[in-house]
Amino acid sequence: MEKIRTLRGFRDIFGEELDKFRRIESVFRKYSGLLGFREVELPVLEKTELFVRSIGDTTDIVEKEMFTFTDVGGDSLTMRPEATAGMVRSYLQEGLYATERMTKVSSIGPMFRHERPQKGRYREFHQIDVEVFGVKEALVDAELIFMIRMILDELGVGRYRIEVNSVGCKTCRESFRRVLIAYFETRKDQLCEDCLRRLERNPLRIFDCKNEQCIRVTGDSPLLFDSLCGECRDHFGLFQGHLRGFGIDVEINKRLVRGLDYYTKTVFEVTSDDLGAQKAFIAGGRYDNLVEEMGGPATAGIGFAIGVERLAMLVPSSVEKDGKRCFLACVGDRAKGYLVPFLKACVAAGITLKYAYDAKSLKAQMRYADNLKCDFVLILGDDEIGKGVITLRNMTDKSQRELPLDPKKAVEELGALA
Ligand code: ATP
Ligand code: MG
Repeated sequence: MEKIRTLRGFRDIFGEELDKFRRIESVFRKYSGLLGFREVELPVLEKTELFVRSIGDTTDIVEKEMFTFTDVGGDSLTMRPEATAGMVRSYLQEGLYATERMTKVSSIGPMFRHERPQKGRYREFHQIDVEVFGVKEALVDAELIFMIRMILDELGVGRYRIEVNSVGCKTCRESFRRVLIAYFETRKDQLCEDCLRRLERNPLRIFDCKNEQCIRVTGDSPLLFDSLCGECRDHFGLFQGHLRGFGIDVEINKRLVRGLDYYTKTVFEVTSDDLGAQKAFIAGGRYDNLVEEMGGPATAGIGFAIGVERLAMLVPSSVEKDGKRCFLACVGDRAKGYLVPFLKACVAAGITLKYAYDAKSLKAQMRYADNLKCDFVLILGDDEIGKGVITLRNMTDKSQRELPLDPKKAVEELGALA
């Protein structure tokens, strides 16, 4: 019979990669806790409208990447492609704006985008997401960069760049839009089909195009960063000042725009050349109008998402060695009766005990213990039981000695070695 496989772009995650996922999560939780974030778990499935309204209907995500389907009740549902939309929905639904001066929340989980799978790009992938609601001050923009910096340093990620930009507010964007359209209108013949559409609907989006020729066209274009309004320019200046306070160097990339419509003022990406084509592994920014656009009171917001798969590619393999490995070899029916008491004593003492479920000859069990690269083997046969002892063999130097047969006492001595 033909074997059933995962869907294209969906993967099983295990072994070293999963170890790295867990390490990333635990380092993240350490710093998000220190900085006062509280973790939430939100639904993976939401109404399609939530994403269309928040992410924007001229974005790649909404135009072509969403896993959307109609359920049996006739509603259009979407597997979340990113976390911010759900975080805003939850912030409003739970009424947090009315009970908290400001809200710092985080979430970890899978996201879904119908993209062409390749290295570092999957249809199901994982994000760690961070959002702050109700703080308009640039200090929090810098605090998020500081948090990223602490996490990456502790994980041992060596080479990365933090790129920052400001995409302004409605006021600066509206006047700049005309300048931009005028520039690209005269270069239409050099733009890809997608960008021709972007030019009509959302010209800033052209800066996000990955097409070489489009990137070249944007090379000489006027930049929003150079025509920010006073307020946005001030905000960016304060942001830079706070970054200096934290002692963090960033690069200003005036061409950085993000693939979602809701961003205002500060945007940033953390990139690494070690990742190849998909070089961004953390991305975020401020979204001061989103909460209001989603039906809430005017509330500032800022957040970022870590792409866990891509970050895991940059995290060095763990040098941490696990504890010593122990094996129990039982020969004969009487000895087998001691397996459960020894297993219970080991688990209680925090020692991993391996053993053969189908214990046969001592030779076969020793071979098995060797294959498992065990450091110590406890050997129990009729001779030992007669003497009231259990033999402990050190597999490294092959020395042997006797421990008391009482599981608790024996495991205590083993614990001193393991
Ligand atoms: P890209 O430019 O690679 O398409 P994006 O701008 O669409 O990224 P965001 O929406 O900003 O990505 O998501 C934040 C992070 O999530 C990215 O920096 C990346 O690390 C990760 N990410 C996004 N899409 C995928 C995917 N399909 N597979 C794996 N990771 C992804
Ligand atoms: Mg994308």
